[in-house]
Amino acid sequence: MAKSDLTEYSAKRSFTATPEPAPAVAATGSGPLLFVVQQHSARRMHYDFRLECDGVLKSWAVPKGPSVDPNEKRLAVQVEDHPYDYASFEGVIPPGQYGAGEVIVWDCGVYSPDEGGATWFHDRRQAEREIREGLEKGKLSFLLRGEKLKGSFALVRTKEAKQWLLIKHKDRFAAPTDVIAQNRSVLSGVAYLRGSSKRCPRSSSRCMPNRATRPSIERTGCGSPSSTAIGCSPSSKGKA
Ligand code: MN
Repeated sequence: MAKSDLTEYSAKRSFTATPEPAPAVAATGSGPLLFVVQQHSARRMHYDFRLECDGVLKSWAVPKGPSVDPNEKRLAVQVEDHPYDYASFEGVIPPGQYGAGEVIVWDCGVYSPDEGGATWFHDRRQAEREIREGLEKGKLSFLLRGEKLKGSFALVRTKEAKQWLLIKHKDRFAAPTDVIAQNRSVLSGVAYLRGSSKRCPRSSSRCMPNRATRPSIERTGCGSPSSTAIGCSPSSKGKA
């Protein structure tokens, strides 16, 4: 297993102030690898695309969100690795904290590298090897089995080290539709309340969500990725 490092994740956050998961590298799991896409209404709305590998979530911030149209290449800026447990995180990062705003689990499911048409859903070690190699060479092809995102996608690094493109491959799941329009959380069913974070400056305590009108944005019952209730985590892995 390659060394996974959550130092950067840790350095950016204060875990007494944010409800985000603590930095723990997950124990070696079994079953297919997990992917998750979180809609994050930070200073700028974006979607965080995450692929499980080596006990952490390799992460990219996608400003426009993923597309299922092969003609729509979406910028994906690689960010720090996130802990495995982040996959089920949904809630509010308080004002003043890094990434302050709301997070919902927009999509999740399992994935496998699919370079050359071969998939490794049943061989996690080989799948992780392929992902590691792809990350190094700057080209990853993978098959998603999510609720909203399905079929083959690519992540291709540009000349800028951290900037990748997320591209839908042509297959039977490709369509010229706006998949982002499906805006509800696959965990809790809530949708981000458009514009709410813009009304509140980051430093304002009034930025806290109104619990009376928006109760369901609080952390959901899927508090742990080991929960299988909503099909978020197919792998039965021990918590680190
Ligand atoms: Mn984010």
